[in-house]
Amino acid sequence: MSISRNLRLLTCAALLAQCFGVKAAVAPRTAQPSDTSLIVIHAGTLIAIPGHLPMRQASIVVRGGRIESVREGYAQIAGARVIDLKQKTVLPGLIDCHVHLTTPTLRKDAEHDPAKLSAADYALAGVVHSRQTLDAGFTTVRDVGADTEAIFALRNAIQQGQVVGPRIFAAGRLIAATGGHGDVRGYPDAIRDELVGASTCDGPFDCRRAVRLQVAHGADVIKIATTGGGGDSGGNEDAPAEMEADEVRAIVEVAHSLGRKVAAHAHGVAGILLALRSGVDSIEHGSFINSEAISLLRSQDATLVPTLSVLDRVAKELPDADPKDQPRMRAFLSEMPGNIGAAHRAGVRIAFGTDAGVIEHGTNAGEFGWYVRIGMTPVAALQTATVNAAHLLGQDKDIGTLEAGKLADVIATDGDPLNNVAALGKIVFVMKQGTVYRSAP
Ligand SMILES: [Zn+2]
Repeated sequence: MSISRNLRLLTCAALLAQCFGVKAAVAPRTAQPSDTSLIVIHAGTLIAIPGHLPMRQASIVVRGGRIESVREGYAQIAGARVIDLKQKTVLPGLIDCHVHLTTPTLRKDAEHDPAKLSAADYALAGVVHSRQTLDAGFTTVRDVGADTEAIFALRNAIQQGQVVGPRIFAAGRLIAATGGHGDVRGYPDAIRDELVGASTCDGPFDCRRAVRLQVAHGADVIKIATTGGGGDSGGNEDAPAEMEADEVRAIVEVAHSLGRKVAAHAHGVAGILLALRSGVDSIEHGSFINSEAISLLRSQDATLVPTLSVLDRVAKELPDADPKDQPRMRAFLSEMPGNIGAAHRAGVRIAFGTDAGVIEHGTNAGEFGWYVRIGMTPVAALQTATVNAAHLLGQDKDIGTLEAGKLADVIATDGDPLNNVAALGKIVFVMKQGTVYRSAP
């Protein structure tokens, strides 16, 4: 086919998209090809709706990737494939609301130089991490900061069944102020502009542009940073906010008008309060959250995504860390668990998030242990990664519980997670949208 013919076809496709609103990049996440056969899962114990009493000896009937019915007893249906999980505890696929799937885990800065990694490097790393994440029982993730080309290509490839991984809701690049948490330092201007120039913004007009750009690339959600990171002084308890109120308000307005929620990375009190007063939908980390922020989270029905797993890495690195960084690291370790615990006791809705990428991909379930240690019951911990996470993603109709009409995202473990959440770290069966990716032994 000639180049001019190719170009003509491209133009036609582009025109179709423009004139008829056909959006190739943002198809519904449920469009993934599924097993259309009839399947019956026999569950020894079934936690269909975390928070409700589990069922004993129950069946899940799956057709075309969705749950047709949940029944008492072991149903026998002619022509159905039977999956025997009579010795297991069966529950909804888990949801991690804070991952960085394309980020190579635990690599030192020298190896992780963004100027030396291409979109292809990130995408290929993402393929490996996607499999690890799905194998761990996480059938859906929200990716909140990545190389734009890599994450949307990965999301779409998984959706189309070309790559094995969890269903992804992706933010694309983190939007931040110039010099803020989403910026890079130490590069010549030309390289810096290439790396993050389009996703840093200053002033409300520029910040609207930054949001629209991520949406144009295919963002399902918008991620911003109103404080520095945990590894720099901008992430300290008393650090000033890294964005202005008019910028965050503009971001929230334009994101909401485009049907996207806004997730705000924030450690210190000033950045948390600024984000909440500007109407964001979730606070990510919330490390130094105080009573005023807790009240705002509740009154605005916003969600907290704590990512306590990061503390495991902080604790591990503390002994060998630069002495000037150690007081900050100790502050995170000593204060964050108590602060998140206070938010939970006050009734703040908490959705499960690990910051996987900062911690090792596939070890996501370690976060459940943290939730129990800060005072959650095991069932409350499980709710963070099911019903609460589905609510934050705006996907309650499809995921979060095992009920008729929802997607067949089903996992199983040998243990009893309502007695000990460590059982969630030993997932033995994974089905996503009716397709089995990991079979029980
Ligand atoms: Zn993160």
